[in-house]
Amino acid sequence: MKKQFPKSIVDEDKYNRFDRRDNVFGRIKNDEEAPFYQQGTYDRIDKVLNKEDGYSSFELARAIGGWSVYDYFTEAFEPKTPDKDKNIMDKPILSPPSKDPEVLTKETKKAAKAYGVSSVGVTKVDPRWVYTKDREGNPLDHLLNYDYAVVMIVPIKPETIRESPGFSAARASAVSYSKMAFIISCMSEFIRHLGYKAAPMGNDGALSIPLAMDAGLGRLGRNGLLVSSKLGSCLKICKVFTDMEMVEDEPVDSPLLDQCHSCKLCSSACEVDAISTRTEPEIETACPSNNRGIIRWPVDHYRCYQFWLENGSDCSSCIAACPFTPD
Ligand code: SF4
Ligand code: SF4
Repeated sequence: MKKQFPKSIVDEDKYNRFDRRDNVFGRIKNDEEAPFYQQGTYDRIDKVLNKEDGYSSFELARAIGGWSVYDYFTEAFEPKTPDKDKNIMDKPILSPPSKDPEVLTKETKKAAKAYGVSSVGVTKVDPRWVYTKDREGNPLDHLLNYDYAVVMIVPIKPETIRESPGFSAARASAVSYSKMAFIISCMSEFIRHLGYKAAPMGNDGALSIPLAMDAGLGRLGRNGLLVSSKLGSCLKICKVFTDMEMVEDEPVDSPLLDQCHSCKLCSSACEVDAISTRTEPEIETACPSNNRGIIRWPVDHYRCYQFWLENGSDCSSCIAACPFTPD
């Protein structure tokens, strides 16, 4: 019987499936009450461009260039093979030589590694992590029809993240999103060409962090992010939901990172005090974008995003400060 993490940090009476329109990026678009309503990260760029080292036009252009595959290859995240007319040749749907879940799991993980993930895990889909609606308000209940999730870690270069909050750290993050589009599309086609369904997702569709925790890929840190023993929080998470039967991984030994009780380096690194400094995790929320009913160190995503607006770019200073971030 699989251990029930991270369910142990969920208050069943208070937790509801999350609506993606309620996170900061959803509220930029939908919530007139949000202080950053309809304000994009680059809206105040004129105030920060070339103000000091790390904020040059060249650096910003490199960061924007880093997004290009993610931005333009949107079919990577579609639940079907891209339009066949665009393909040079039709590719066969194969029948796997074995349908043994252990073999399918081993071969699927081998594929993920071949495409460039740093770690991969498998879990059954816990319906509670599936968003109720996407950012446009479309229902996502169809994702509940998938039984398994292949959860993958896309690495980000730690040495560049350490340059946060300058634009080069934003480039490292952007490049990892573009790598995600490559990896997720390869993985989905691998699964589909073995005759199974595959619904690829980045940050969309379902909450990535609890899925990754269920798949044994790390713990939740004070910084509100997944912390893995190998990469700290220098990572992005993507996942493919599938009907292919696999063998689940066990979650790590506890859902919250124990060191965070005393460490607090991420809180000190945050210029806008967005990260809790309390020793113990709590169920109280820090802003309207926190989902309710989770016992953790809450992060004020409103403050965080307002810093991004001032910075003219995203920030990773809490990741850079973490002792789990590799050299
Ligand atoms: S990303 Fe930057 S602003 Fe946001 S919580 Fe981390 S350190 Fe603070
Ligand atoms: S910096 Fe310290 S407190 Fe913050 S996530 Fe890392 S280990 Fe936890």
